[in-house]
Amino acid sequence: MLAQDSPDMTNAKIVVLGSINMDLIARCHALPLAGQTLTATGFQQIRGGKGANQAVAASLVGSSVRMLGRVGEDGLAASLIDELKQDGVHCSQVLPTPNVSSGLAMITVSDDAENQIVVIPGANAHVDAATVDQFADVISMGDVLLLQLEIPLPAVLRAKEIAQAAGVRVILDPAPIPATPLPADLFEVDLICPNETEALEIVGRHAKQNATAAQPQEITAWQNVAEQLHQQGSRNVIITLGKQGVLFFDGNQHQHLSAQPVDAIDTTCAGDAFAGALAAKWAATNDLIKAIEFGNQIAALSTTATGLTALRTE
Ligand code: ATP
Repeated sequence: MLAQDSPDMTNAKIVVLGSINMDLIARCHALPLAGQTLTATGFQQIRGGKGANQAVAASLVGSSVRMLGRVGEDGLAASLIDELKQDGVHCSQVLPTPNVSSGLAMITVSDDAENQIVVIPGANAHVDAATVDQFADVISMGDVLLLQLEIPLPAVLRAKEIAQAAGVRVILDPAPIPATPLPADLFEVDLICPNETEALEIVGRHAKQNATAAQPQEITAWQNVAEQLHQQGSRNVIITLGKQGVLFFDGNQHQHLSAQPVDAIDTTCAGDAFAGALAAKWAATNDLIKAIEFGNQIAALSTTATGLTALRTE
């Protein structure tokens, strides 16, 4: 187990505020047309949500993780919480929410790997600033608070404020970028870690462009994007570059870490594995470079099997 290989992690306290979803995946020969009923060839139910995935990744590498969020009062809630607990995540701050479903994604995947996805935010949409106030003590006792954008922005901003008042480091994975305007102080965090698309979207919006900037081809061109992100207030910037690894900018120097050579078969949760592992190692060692190297290594490992499975079996 990864956790046994990481004895330095045991004192690392990670708090994750974010989404908890159940992905219901139907496999069909083709995607249904409007009005068409198809018979699926297979079905899978997999726990997801960026918040839950990052919490699980941080836990599987050996840190102590508290998940903050909401589930519905429905048949899925118990499975969602049980599965998180099986992966070692503390769930006493995951609140049952009356009259609403748990977060759901209904996914259809065709034989030629096209997909259709409908996301139902459900209880995740009910995580508001007042909910976060209930978690203030837990947030204040963490080493690192990990945030994403699958819950309402006021909750994210409130959690950031509580953490910063208590001297807790804040990592923001700004995914997905909401359609609504992004408040400037959202980016005033210790570390922001978008992927390429999100990085360009943030920079493009800041430049008041209608379209996102053109995708740079060279690593060096990403340095310019990282610098623009840094100007928006984040103390440290990481851009995850998929199979090109990660680019890090601390306001003075750029560092590019190549991806670990692996036989990647599914990159779906790679960004979440990266964020969770990075947070755990940063909390454990206070060494951000070591944490980025570790995140890069664990993210590569995650691509060798579906979802976060490789982190459980290693
Ligand atoms: P997702 O949204 O699917 O979780 P992402 O788009 O947020 O992923 P990526 O930039 O694709 O994130 O990948 C995150 C990290 O995972 C990369 O920075 C790298 O460390 C690792 N990674 C991704 N793809 C590969 C690969 N093919 N080989 C090795 N490592 C990879």
